[in-house]
Order: sequence, then structure tokens, then C-alpha cells
Amino acid sequence: DAARTRKLHLRNLAKEEKEDDIGALRIISRQEYLKKRVEQKSEELADEIEDEQNMFDSVELTESERREFRFKQDLYDLIVKNSMKDDCGEYTMPDAYDLGVNQKKRFAVALKNSRDGESKGKKMNPFAEQEQWEQQQMGKAALNFGSKNKRLKANRYEYVFGDQIEFINTGVVEGEKNYPDLEKFECVKIKEEQKTLPVYGYKDELLNAVRDHQVLVIVGETGCGKTTQIPQYLHEAGYTKVGKIGCTQPRRVAAMSVAARVSKEMGVKLGHEVGYSIRFEDCTSEKTSIKYMTDGMLLREFLGEPDLCSYSVIMLDEAHERTVTTDILFGLVKDVARFRPDLKLLISSATLDAEKFSDYFDSAPIFKIPGRPYEVKIHSTKAPEANYLDAAIVSALQIHVKEPPGDILMFLTGQEEIETVEEILKHRTRGLGTKIDELIICPIYANLPTHLQNKIFEPTPEGARKVVLATNIAETSLTIQGIKYVIDPGFVKIKSYNPRTGVESLLVKPISKASANQRAGRSGRTGPGKCYRLYTAYNYQELEDNTVPEIQRTNLANVVLTLKCLGIQDLLNFDFMDPPPSESLLKALELLYALGALNKHGELTKVGRRMAEFPLDPMLSKMIVASEKYRCSEEIITIAAMLSIGNSIFYRPKDKQVLADNARVRFSEGNVGDHIALLNVYNEWKSYDYGSMWCYENFVQFKSMKRARDIRDQLKGLLERVEIEVTSNLNDLDAIKKAITAGFFPHSAKLQKDGSYRTIKHPQIAYLHPSSSLAQIHPQPRWVVFHELVLTTKEYMRQVIELKPEWLIEIAPHFYKKKD
Ligand code: ADP
Ligand code: MG
Repeated sequence: DAARTRKLHLRNLAKEEKEDDIGALRIISRQEYLKKRVEQKSEELADEIEDEQNMFDSVELTESERREFRFKQDLYDLIVKNSMKDDCGEYTMPDAYDLGVNQKKRFAVALKNSRDGESKGKKMNPFAEQEQWEQQQMGKAALNFGSKNKRLKANRYEYVFGDQIEFINTGVVEGEKNYPDLEKFECVKIKEEQKTLPVYGYKDELLNAVRDHQVLVIVGETGCGKTTQIPQYLHEAGYTKVGKIGCTQPRRVAAMSVAARVSKEMGVKLGHEVGYSIRFEDCTSEKTSIKYMTDGMLLREFLGEPDLCSYSVIMLDEAHERTVTTDILFGLVKDVARFRPDLKLLISSATLDAEKFSDYFDSAPIFKIPGRPYEVKIHSTKAPEANYLDAAIVSALQIHVKEPPGDILMFLTGQEEIETVEEILKHRTRGLGTKIDELIICPIYANLPTHLQNKIFEPTPEGARKVVLATNIAETSLTIQGIKYVIDPGFVKIKSYNPRTGVESLLVKPISKASANQRAGRSGRTGPGKCYRLYTAYNYQELEDNTVPEIQRTNLANVVLTLKCLGIQDLLNFDFMDPPPSESLLKALELLYALGALNKHGELTKVGRRMAEFPLDPMLSKMIVASEKYRCSEEIITIAAMLSIGNSIFYRPKDKQVLADNARVRFSEGNVGDHIALLNVYNEWKSYDYGSMWCYENFVQFKSMKRARDIRDQLKGLLERVEIEVTSNLNDLDAIKKAITAGFFPHSAKLQKDGSYRTIKHPQIAYLHPSSSLAQIHPQPRWVVFHELVLTTKEYMRQVIELKPEWLIEIAPHFYKKKD
């Protein structure tokens, strides 16, 4: 009965309000308002919701509007509820703010009106002002209550997402609990931070082990300090007095970021004592004694310094990644170590499967830095998720509103996916305004500009949550502080290679068990973590144990050329940890022979030696070397530089697609093809003094262009080195196209009756990529040469030019013969 009376009392209160609500705003104090809300029981709230339900039904909202409205309401209730626990400063709000039935109806009607208005071409929202005010106030509320108290715990979130994902607990990855609480130290100085790293406790033992053994395999969980600390320990111990410490990374982003971190820890300027070297970017100097570099750069250094005499220590880091270059480096450094007993070799790996490395290096001792600090709870979905991107987004939002503080790490397969997710997340969180805590979205992938890369390492402000959208780079190469939740869709984009056709493509494939565990572990570094797998426990059981080493699924032409330059003739007997398929080796030899880099006996030719000077794929290098003959090296290095940028030259904003497309079409006028269009873009930009305004007006990415210019400058330097004259032949497009064909003739294709193309030498069906300027031409060109194949829904040729078939016979008579 008491409840009944209160209920009545409340109804009356509500009535009073309504009567007062004649458009003008009656100001009540927050306390007063809250008091009323406090007295409401949850059944009454349920009543209210029922009322709304009826109202919704009568106003006919779309499903998404309905959901959005409910979402707002739930969040609103949540904040109010939470605010009741807290007595912070008084402020006033219009009572219209209480979303009473009337108010809701008005909202619904306004929504409908604005929708109708929109469809008539007008935009109107009679509530715009009020909404803005609400948002502002809500922001205050969320800030005031949210960050002071423990974060809100949602209880009625069934309403929030119609498309919630149900996870079931599928186990725990045990951790060792006797580790220092790393989180506690997050704010203290770097020096102290360094001491909290697991590797710190083993510093002396590690130095002793390095002193006593020439080769050491080091194993330790990601984030324990291998990459950043060990080179510093060795530096302190004096190893840099006699030579440099070189530390390789499979990824350039990792090399740059780690070098930046270490230079900061040592208090020196990046590029001085600590530097990095990646393709097309050398940030080192005479002074540099700790050098981080991509494995590819160390391989190139072998060309100039086959005994690595300027190094006292080589650390092959991330050895578990088993990139083809690291695999080759294993063989090379093993050989060097034999005749350079003073050289120390460290092979470091994040996985416990180190016996293989040890066996390979003649039973080198394994130094283990003990395990994972905290346990990780694994959640798997009940059923497989049809759309993993969608599922990943929903999971992230679910975590954001439901779970206690801690950042989220989401694994995606590439730049495009990351950008899509970023956009959707932004859109969905913007829709909620300040009603939820701030969600900071940080993408990280190889092509991301450096200044944005650093964002992922910035500490998350209190009250906000960070969600890092990363490619596999975050699996082991980079450690991000504060990650407590991992979302693992279970896919990775990896290279795959068909030795029969010689075609390499990037494919999205399921990850291995080792990867899945590694990913999960990323959440348990600073405290107990949670990993949300967007696949079932059964799916997990079906995964391969380990990822196939890259050497067994890649085009080896580049590597073979480098090895040939190093004087390694007998490739079949090279000391591979896991040998590549012999077809891949033969295919690489065949291609290099076709390009004229090797002679009939498999020996390096002058052309091959020149090609090897360029840090590019052999076909691109050959195109450059061939430009000498066609007297168009100026143009060809521009094209090579532009091609090296990948597909990030043009952009196409959603609201200006037509303008962007028109701007783009202009560059390929006369059906000159994509390579020449790229050349036109560059030359026009140059004629506008390399300006950013021109880029902006033409929907071209300024940053990409600057990078292309950088690369071009370096290629120009290399031209001089191999003594190719820098000449321009801009008016003879055929000459330029012939030079391109001289590198890419193995990628020539002929039109079929059904509109598809068939590659000539090793038949393979492919289509013009929709982004190609030639895709718009009718009739389609009969003969084409393409830069690369990409596999999406089907095999697409990207960057294509038209070709005259007689060129093939002129340029590659050993490869193509005229049909009699
Ligand atoms: P490992 O190589 O064993 O995986 P690292 O040496 O890369 O470990 O990382 C050690 C610690 O340094 C980690 O806690 C990581 O968070 C921190 N760290 C590494 N790079 C950066 C960076 N750029 N900014 C801030 N912290 C970093
Ligand atoms: Mg590392």
C-alpha cells in the first residue's frame, strides 16, 4: 500500500510537471529532480517504458529511430541512476529535460517531421536547439558522475543494441600472478618504468649469457622488454664500443616506433645514438650505435658488407614471425658467425616454440624470460558470426558501455577494414553525443602517417576509453599500454603465392592457434584481461597450430636476386630453416632469367646486378633499368615511385564522389592508361610547385605525393649509381610504355570474348579493376600489361596500360614467340 501511495504521489508530481509544461521552461533544481527519480521503483520505470512502447507504435518510427531513442533513454536513465549516488554541485535544468511521455511524443513527432522535411529536400529539426542543450548538460553529467565514481555498470542494455552478440566463457589462459603490478607504475618516470619490465630482473643473467655464448635464443612474452631493453643493456655493457647493435623488425612501423621509444628512454635525439633504417628512409648517423631496421634493410646491407663488420651484435627480433627475409637472414648470419667469433647473435621470439631456432643454430642455448603476467578470460561466440566487421563493432560498443575501464584492441585485416570500422564507430558514437564516455579511436597500420601512429601510445585520458584498430602489427611487434580487452575476429590478411602462375595475392584467411593465443595475451599484460573471439570454441579447435612460414607462400624472385648478388649460387642447398617449395625457387629463377637478370647458367648478369641496386621488386627494377634504352628514365622513376605508394594517391570523399571522379578522369585523358595517369598526376603537381592546394583541389593525397617525391629522389640517386643517364622522353608515350612492358611483360594479358582477360604465358583469368581508367573504355583494349593482381571477389588487374602485341616479341623474344 505504501508503494501504491508513493506511486500515486509520483503520478501527481508528474502531472504537475506536465501542467506546467506549456512550452516555457520551468526551472527546477537538480536535487529536486533527482529526489523524485530516486523514489521511483523499477516497476514504475517498467510501466513507463510500456507507455513509450505504445506511443512509439502510434507514431510509426523506423526500427533504427526506435532503437536510437531507446538507447538515448537508457543511457539517460543510467546516468541519472548513477548520479543519485553522487552529490555533486547543483545546477538547474529545464524540466522539459525529463523525458516524460509528452516530451517523448514531441520528440517522436519532431523526428518524424524532420524526416518528412528531409525527404522533401528541406532539413528541419525543431528540437535542434533543445537537443544541443541536452547534449551539453548530459556531457556535464557524464563527466561529473562518470569519472568520479566507478564507471557506470549497465543493467538494462538489452535495449541498447538490437544486434547484441552473445559470448560464452570458453576458458582462461592462466597467468603467473607473482608479477609486479605494472599498471601502478604507468605514471612514474620512464626509468622506473623500465625497471618494472619483466626482462629487467634478468639483466645480469642475460648479459652473462651473451658473454658466454655467441648465439643465444631469447624467448619472452610480448611486452616484456626484449626489443627496447636488451639493446640498451648491451650498449651499457660496452658492446657498442667495438661496433653497432643492429636489431631487425619485420615491419617498418615497428622499427620506427621502437627506435623513437628507445631514443626517448636514453634521452638522445632520434637518428643520433639511436636510429632506424627502413626502405626509402634512413634515420641514422655516424653516431648511431643502436640501429633498428627492417629485416629487408639488413639483407640489403649484406650486399655492401657481407661480413657485417660494422656490427658487434645482431639481434634478429620477432623471429617467430618467420618472414621470408628473416628466414634468409638466419642462414646468412649463421654463416657470418662461423668466421666472426666476435659477433654476437641474438634470436628473439615471443613464442615458446624456440627449440626450432635453437636446433637450427647448432643447439644454441635458450634464455627464457618467464611468462605472461595475468590471466586472460576467453569468450567465444555461441555461433559463428556471419559478418565479422559488424560483430567487431558491436562488441566494441558493448564493451565500452558495459565493462570497467581499460582500452580495447581490435584486430582487423587491413587498412580498408580499419577505415571502415573507424568510420562506423565514429558515426555510431557521434549519434550518442556525450551520453556515453568518450571513445578514442586509434587506427594503426603500415601506411599510416607517422604522426598519427604515435597516437596509439598516448595515455588514455581519465574517463575515456581507447579502441585501437590494428592489423596484425599489434599481435607481437607493438605493445600498447593499458589494453584490457581484445576483440579477435580470427582473420589475417596474408600473402599467398601460386608458383604455377607466378601470381601473388593477398588473401584474408583464418589465423592459427598460435596467433589466436598471442592476440588473447595482448589483453593480459597490465592486469587480468578479456579476449572476445568472434568465432566459436569449435572453430578455434579447427585452426592450424602455426602459421605457414612466409617463405613457403611467397614469390622468391627478390630474395633469389639478392642471394645471387651475395654470390650464393646453389640455392637448392641453401641452409633454410624450412625450405621453400622447389617450384617457387624454380619460378623465381625462371622470372629472373626472363627479365635478363640471370643467364642460362643461372649466373648474375650486368642487368641483374644493376637491378639489385634498387630496393624494389625485380619487375620494377627491370622497368627502370630498361628505361635507359628508351631514354625515358625521368618518367619511369616517377612511375615507379608512384606505384610504390600503393593505392593511396587518390581519395574520394563520400559527399564529393562525382567531383573526385571527374578530377581523376582528367589525368587519363586520351586513354593513356593508369601508369601514364600517375605520371600526369605527378608532373602536374610538380608544375604547381609541389603544392598542397593543388592536391586538395584535385582530390589527391598530399602526403602520398610527398612520399612519392621522396622515393623518386632516392631512385634518381640510384640511377646515378648504376650509371643510367637521367633523360626525359615525355612526348613518346610508346617509349615509356615499352619500358614498362620490359619489366612487366610476364604480366601481359589478352581480352577474351566474355570481357575477361587471360594472362598469356601461364593462363589465368583476370578482370580490369573497377578503379582502372581502362575499365571505362569501350571497346575494351585487346592487349594489356598490368602492375599487380588483387583478389577480392575475383582476380582483378590493378594499374593497367594498353599494349601492342608486337612489343612483346620485340622486348621479350625469349619469352614470347609469334604464332605461326
Ligand atoms: P617486447 O619486445 O618484449 O615485446 P618491448 O621492448 O617492445 O617488448 O616493450 C617493452 C615496453 O615498452 C612495453 O611495456 C611497451 O608498452 C613499452 N613501449 C614500447 N614502445 C613504446 C612506445 N613507442 N611508447 C610507449 N611505450 C612503449
Ligand atoms: Mg618486440
